[in-house]
Amino acid sequence: TGGNNVKEVYKVGVDTTYPPFEFQEDGKYKGIDIDLIQAIAKDQGFKVKIEAMDFGGIIPSMQAGELDIGMGGMSITDERKETVDFSDPYFEAGLSLVVAKGNGKIASLKDLKGKMVAIKNGTTGAKFAEDHKDEYGYDTIQVSDSTSMFQEVSNGSADALIEDYPVISYAIATSNLDLQVVGDRLNGDNYGMSVMKGKQDELLKKLNDGLASLKESGKYDEILDKYLGE
Ligand code: GLN
Repeated sequence: TGGNNVKEVYKVGVDTTYPPFEFQEDGKYKGIDIDLIQAIAKDQGFKVKIEAMDFGGIIPSMQAGELDIGMGGMSITDERKETVDFSDPYFEAGLSLVVAKGNGKIASLKDLKGKMVAIKNGTTGAKFAEDHKDEYGYDTIQVSDSTSMFQEVSNGSADALIEDYPVISYAIATSNLDLQVVGDRLNGDNYGMSVMKGKQDELLKKLNDGLASLKESGKYDEILDKYLGE
């Protein structure tokens, strides 16, 4: 009786707010990451519980055993591969430099000498900014979520910020943010779902099998279209 029908519930860590990947509407979590993991769970016969937190807390929470899956528009990087295993990539992204709308003085990293750059704790953008700090002669101010990072530039506390281009493009297109993207993209990467390194091979296989099956059925494209349009 019973036992075998009980489905495994996996805790999924996502960013507090990172539209179009995750955001709250009417008290419910929505977005590409949320729809994808829910569809993968359905396809592979498990359940998920979404837990939102500052992005910088996701990998530490996985290491502490409090989360099974890390998402949140998380870029696949070699550095992170030392602590987590990534699924196959599910979205192409990368970084952009962002300034206040109408700022005609900053067109690229070269114009950042003596300037302040807002960064978000634990992100690839923060790492990029720190890695190039001395080269371009700027300083950094660190916050823990994208909303605060955008505000630092809007209110003039920072001159620029670094954010993933799908996220900043979506934010500029859908809200009246007084920000603009400048210059070429700073790099390119891919988002992946992550699990504890070396400890979740079965779950990782389910994530990859589920993703492949959503791509094959058209469900993956349907989810992307829902949030990004044609
Ligand atoms: N893709 C970036 C990273 O992995 C930013 C993610 C985020 O801010 N949620 O660090």
